[in-house]
Amino acid sequence: MRSTAAIVDLGAMVHNLHHARSLAPKSRTMAVVKANAYGHGAIPVARALESEADALAVACMEEALELRDSGITAPLLVLEGLCQRESLALAAQHQLWLMIHSEHQLAALEQAKLPAPIACWLKVDTGMHRLGFNVAEVNEAYGRLTNCANCAPDIVLTTHFACADEPASHDTHQQIERFNTLAGDFPLARSAANSAAVLAWPESHYQWIRPGYMLYGNSPFNTAVNTAQALRPAMTFGCDVIALRDVKKGQRVGYSGIWQAQRDSVIATLNAGYADGYPRHAQNGTPVLINGHRAPLVGRVSMDMITVDVTDLPPVTPGDTAVLWGPALDVGEVARWADTIGYELTTRMPIRTPRIYR
Ligand SMILES: *Cc1c(COP(=O)(O)O)cnc(C)c1O
Repeated sequence: MRSTAAIVDLGAMVHNLHHARSLAPKSRTMAVVKANAYGHGAIPVARALESEADALAVACMEEALELRDSGITAPLLVLEGLCQRESLALAAQHQLWLMIHSEHQLAALEQAKLPAPIACWLKVDTGMHRLGFNVAEVNEAYGRLTNCANCAPDIVLTTHFACADEPASHDTHQQIERFNTLAGDFPLARSAANSAAVLAWPESHYQWIRPGYMLYGNSPFNTAVNTAQALRPAMTFGCDVIALRDVKKGQRVGYSGIWQAQRDSVIATLNAGYADGYPRHAQNGTPVLINGHRAPLVGRVSMDMITVDVTDLPPVTPGDTAVLWGPALDVGEVARWADTIGYELTTRMPIRTPRIYR
């Protein structure tokens, strides 16, 4: 078997969920498992977290039905709500909770004939300008929801932050202030906090927190923020060294020859490339762990392989193990070398790379 794999530590996720809970002890916790649980595998992750969380959340109907079909019975919110009227009956049948963020969705709910009412989360746009009713429209939307037989009681008033990952963000203060002002008018449970807000904005915890990324053990902050240190990264993306060669000073390595040896060098070839989930845009110098030692990526990332300069490492031989990210190498650091964020790297982990659970 090819050794390239993403090893997923479900116990680490349960630990991270408990950590989120401990930061917001008065709130209920909705574990976000959208996008195939951020690449970690929606069904195994949902099974591991459903008894620990008060509810789960996914982005869309397809993700929700996948979980229901696999026997997940926990409360399950569809964060985008529905875009097709025909799906409302299915949502009611499967007891999904729906985000209601637009006039279009509200009208569809009012007009539908449903087997049972649906629990609704009413979304207000407090400044992100992506989804949600404007502050001035919420009153009317709330009135219509409470008069709508298809909407279950206990609506949750919700919003989403644009800049919670910037711990000194003025925008987040403003969003919280708007949400507080508004919420004074509605006798509802509230929800605002994503991972960054769970960690850095305690005044935004309200009745429900909605952590996603932190459950997978990674910091949502760009810079190292010590509030994320109690987290345990759940994914270890590993592979093997499959070849070693001596490269003379002046020789180039890999496609387009973008890296040239400045000295006689030892180059290790590893069996993971962009088709396995390693970012093709990772620059020369991106750290890779081989036998636990850091060594720099050199040359272009290929589809199935990468090359690493191991000249300064203790001797490396074929079959030695490499870690591309994991508890000992922050996925966020690797992501910065590829001009992206760890969220993208884990969620883009492709089918070819097996998930191994332990
Ligand atoms: C994805 C998402 C979350 C979770 O965000 P993280 O940064 O992963 O914690 C919370 N709420 C909404 C509406 C989302 O779309």
